[in-house]
Amino acid sequence: MGGFVAFYHWQPWEVDWLGALMPEANPRSDLDSAELMKTGIRVMVVVAHPDDSEFYAGGILHALGEAGARIQLVVATDGDKDYYWFEDHEENSLIRRGEQDRATDLWRGLPPIYLGFADGRVRSNLALRRALEREIQRFEPAVILGFDAEFPRSPSHQDHRRVGQATEAAFEESRWQGWLLRMETRAPNWAFDITSRWDQKQKTVMVHESQFGPKREFILELIRSRAEKDGELIGAALAEGFRVTRVTRRSASKQAY
Ligand SMILES: [Zn+2]
Repeated sequence: MGGFVAFYHWQPWEVDWLGALMPEANPRSDLDSAELMKTGIRVMVVVAHPDDSEFYAGGILHALGEAGARIQLVVATDGDKDYYWFEDHEENSLIRRGEQDRATDLWRGLPPIYLGFADGRVRSNLALRRALEREIQRFEPAVILGFDAEFPRSPSHQDHRRVGQATEAAFEESRWQGWLLRMETRAPNWAFDITSRWDQKQKTVMVHESQFGPKREFILELIRSRAEKDGELIGAALAEGFRVTRVTRRSASKQAY
């Protein structure tokens, strides 16, 4: 039992043992996808690892890129598997950044920003929140794609949850306003049809050869079954589901306390 507890705390996946909470009310979002697909719209994608953006949002990112969006990917770690002492961290970092750069080119994103936090050990601490705040203030996105920290899938990677928390804390702090699309959610209230983009999505996911190459069939089947489930939300064969919120402020200026 002690061994199991120690192992559970060492490995980076989290399970909601007492049952996964769901939102009390989860009304469908009225986000019109045509509102997103605009030339020049600024979209920031905040993820934990190289490969997350393709895995969770490869379809919508291709659509945004083709529509002429300016898309800035921010990756909190280099995916160097810092928590495995038997891995070559420097080589992992080089390979995975290379894969992420190539995948981002395919969906026409700007060169990715890598923040270099510890893979598998990300904390939603001041350093990460400040780094994200800086990127949000610099880029001024109209749309943020981030992880769902409140209603994540279970099990899910602890880094995804922490980066999701830090993203929301960072935009709260900078009083950002816009559309928030939360990925890897168990409570999607909006979905983007990727039926015609399945081939594109498969190709970009598989750019991450070092992660998915050896288990290609399993990974594609997993992504496809999730896309079928998310498709049910909008009557599409395949879709990417998100928990969407329009973030607004009563007053855009800083309040005095
Ligand atoms: Zn990840």
